[in-house]
Amino acid sequence: MAAVRGRIDEACRRAGRDPAEVELIVVTKFHPPALALELHRLGVRDLGENRHPEARDKALAVDAELPAGEPRPRWHFIGQVQTKKARQIARYAHSIHSVDRPGLVDALRGIERAEPLEVFVQLSLDDDRARGGVAPEGLLPLVERVLETPSLRLRGLMHVAPLDMPAERAFATVRELSERVRELEPAADALSMGMSGDFGSAISQQATHLRIGAAITGKRPPGP
Ligand SMILES: *Cc1c(COP(=O)(O)O)cnc(C)c1O
Repeated sequence: MAAVRGRIDEACRRAGRDPAEVELIVVTKFHPPALALELHRLGVRDLGENRHPEARDKALAVDAELPAGEPRPRWHFIGQVQTKKARQIARYAHSIHSVDRPGLVDALRGIERAEPLEVFVQLSLDDDRARGGVAPEGLLPLVERVLETPSLRLRGLMHVAPLDMPAERAFATVRELSERVRELEPAADALSMGMSGDFGSAISQQATHLRIGAAITGKRPPGP
């Protein structure tokens, strides 16, 4: 944890940025609730998960362990969302980073929450549909759809770097496209990009939300 924080600070220094502008989300997918509780004890309040119902079960287990009055973690849903699961995810998630199609926006239209659900539109720069994301041509129409949806608050863009392109170049493209998004909604200025292997490049391209798993939590237990 401290080592990764140090590397984040160093990357910010090189990029001439204030580390306070960069939010760290620790990805706990595949790990048991005990790990999330350990991170909570270290003061980590933003946790990332990519699968429902694993995320829901973990959020409930952590909630049951924490004493009343103790702040709860904010759960960031970073994986692909099945349309029919969207409303369930919105019950425990603080944000969804992987909004990538109009049908998903529509599924989130009627959710009932005290505060709007924070969302990021996931942008894809390759044809690997299995990893989710909207192609650049579909970006602005999808952004407009989110902006027309009162139950959602658009924070910005999310990106997972393609395997066949230098991450820095991909992140630079995302940063450029985000200028078009900010013409539609100036407040949608967040960039959720950067994972264990590429967060230095993401910071140099103005990332505001890093989603880091393995570099902090160690090797993940095998998935199901
Ligand atoms: C797993 C995952 C991460 C974290 O990846 P690490 O390489 O473990 O840091 C970030 N974003 C998404 C969308 C993921 O699925």
